[in-house]
Amino acid sequence: MAESPSAVSGILFVVSAPSGAGKTSLVRALLEVEQGLKLSVSYTTRAPRPGEVDGEHYHFVAGATFEAMIADGAFVEYARVFDNAYGTAEPALREVLQRGDDLVLEIDWQGARQVRERFADAVSIFVAPPSLAALEQRLQGRGQDSDAVIAGRMAKARDELSHLDEYQYLVVNDDFDVALAELRAIVAAERLRRPRQVARYQRALAEMLGPQGVEA
Ligand code: ADP
Ligand code: 5GP
Repeated sequence: MAESPSAVSGILFVVSAPSGAGKTSLVRALLEVEQGLKLSVSYTTRAPRPGEVDGEHYHFVAGATFEAMIADGAFVEYARVFDNAYGTAEPALREVLQRGDDLVLEIDWQGARQVRERFADAVSIFVAPPSLAALEQRLQGRGQDSDAVIAGRMAKARDELSHLDEYQYLVVNDDFDVALAELRAIVAAERLRRPRQVARYQRALAEMLGPQGVEA
C-alpha cells in the first residue's frame, strides 16, 4: 500500500525530463533560491563527467556495489537508464522528509512510477525541452558526452517524453528564467495546500476556531 506521510513531513518532488532538457540546471537554480528544499543524491554506476564530484552530483559506485545494494533493499527506487543503473537510497530520503524539509528527486520515468507507488503524496513534475532540435543543441552544448552517447540520449528522448502524461505538472524549459519561475510556483502552491497549512498553523487555527480546530 502507498505510504501517506503525515502533513508535517516534507514534500517529495519528483522531477523527470529527457536528458539535456535542463532538469539539473533548473533544479540547482531552484535550490539556490528556495529555503527548506534539499536534493537527493542518487547512486549510479555511470562514470563521473568532468567536474562531477562524488557525493555531490552522484554517489558513483561499481556495478557490484549497486547490485549488493539492490539485494539489501537499500533503494526506494532504481532503474537502468542508458546502460547504467541509477537509484535513490532510502535512509537519506527518510531522514530529510522526517526533519520536515522538502526533497527533490531528479529521476527517470521508471523511478518516478516506483516513487508514486510508495509515496502517494509525491508531487511529480515533467520538464520538457521546447523542441528536439533544442534538446540536441543542449546536449552538444553541454560538451560532456560523446557523439555516440548524445545519439543514444536523443533516441531515448521520445521514449521519456511519451510518459509525460503520468506527471501532475509540465514545465517547458524554453526561457530558463520562466521555467525556473514556474518551478517555484509549483513548490509554493504545494506548500500552501490546506493540510500542510493547517498543520503549520494548528495553534492559531485552534485559537480562532476553538479546541476542535479544523480537520486537515
Ligand atoms: P539535464 O539535467 O536535463 O540532462 P542539464 O541541466 O545538464 O540537463 O542541461 C543541458 C544543457 O542545456 C546545459 O548545458 C544547460 O546549461 C543548457 N540549458 C538548460 N536550460 C536551458 C535553456 N532554457 N536554454 C538554453 N540552454 C539551456
Ligand atoms: P545523467 O547520466 O544525465 O545524469 O542521468 C541520466 C538519466 O538517469 C536521467 O533521466 C536521470 O533522471 C536518471 N536518473 C538519475 N538518477 C536517478 C535515480 O536515482 N533513479 C532513477 N530511476 N533515475 C535516475
